[in-house]
Amino acid sequence: MSVPFLDLGVQYEALRAELDDAVARVVESQRFILGAEVDAFEEAIAAYLGVPHAIGCASGTDALLLPLRALDPRPDDEVILPAFTFFATAGAVWNAGFRPVFCDVDSATFNVTAGTVSAVWSERTRVIVPVHLFGQMAPMQELNELARDRGALVLEDAAQSLGARQRGAGDEGTWVMAGAAGDAGAFSFFPTKNLGAYGDAGLTATSDDELAERIRKLRVHGGRQMYRHEMVGTNSRLDALQAAVLRTKLPHLDTWATARGENACRYHGLLSGLDGIVLPETLDGNVHVYNQYTIRAERRDDLRAHLERRNVGTGVYYPVPLHLQECFSELGGKRGQLPEAERACEEVLSLPIFPELGEERQQVVSEAIREFYE
Ligand SMILES: *Cc1c(COP(=O)(O)O)cnc(C)c1O
Repeated sequence: MSVPFLDLGVQYEALRAELDDAVARVVESQRFILGAEVDAFEEAIAAYLGVPHAIGCASGTDALLLPLRALDPRPDDEVILPAFTFFATAGAVWNAGFRPVFCDVDSATFNVTAGTVSAVWSERTRVIVPVHLFGQMAPMQELNELARDRGALVLEDAAQSLGARQRGAGDEGTWVMAGAAGDAGAFSFFPTKNLGAYGDAGLTATSDDELAERIRKLRVHGGRQMYRHEMVGTNSRLDALQAAVLRTKLPHLDTWATARGENACRYHGLLSGLDGIVLPETLDGNVHVYNQYTIRAERRDDLRAHLERRNVGTGVYYPVPLHLQECFSELGGKRGQLPEAERACEEVLSLPIFPELGEERQQVVSEAIREFYE
């Protein structure tokens, strides 16, 4: 039996009638850019997150870029972000005009902490960008406190974590949603994310009225009125077809997250006690939505090749830390500088975790892993 890393077709089959209707509705309306579909999706997701402003845009990358550009960086202003994340986090920081400053990550969660962030803090730090990697939130309470004490803003990269929650990051004991816990949060609806569009799409959430207004302008060339430009923005609009697809899928998101969580639980049972691998950890007070189920593996590349021979699909997110990327060589990153990020790049392996995976295929995956180490 072969096990694909991801199979988006099953989800489409389950919702085919609703999704086809949604697409047909947009085509019949002949309104393809922003408009009522986008307004309705923005409203639905703002309510889901519990924030006043949700602003759709062209991609998750732009959902990071627009709020950063809205801050009007001065030369040498710095943004702290993890060295272990998808490239887009750093690309957005750079393209907005900030200097990226990479920090290390926690070995248990692959996320930044107040400790790893403050280790690289400088008087030029204006923003920190915690990434809620793989579906679990970075510790927002301590990060918000650190930023508030030192006069910086927090932009959450929640591209992989729509629906994740954390206790105590807001008022005592209340639960906050990923992307609604800092000053602004960025989401991606790339097809492989937990809420996937049928193309590129993204969204920024914020409770800050003024920031929201600036982002709304920036996504349509810097002015809300046609042909009146208060600033130089760009074209980064969410299109109506994507909004219609996303609005159809959103009510199912929590059910899918629960199924991912059950799959994770089953892997924990099937793989625990096996020498050679370390299973992902969920910290207390977190709901993990498992966009990825990522283990650490000894001889990772050999294990991956073995699994491929057994027709089991896997992913390596991410093989190269950002401070060692060629494009950032002028920033002076050195091997050995951020040891946990570097070690993660050598050890991580993501296993199939999509909601419809099923017990039988998980057994195939687990047996193939056991066979490799035993
Ligand atoms: C997917 C992703 C992005 C970028 O989203 P796109 O929609 O692909 O532009 C940014 N950050 C992280 C952590 C991601 O996983």
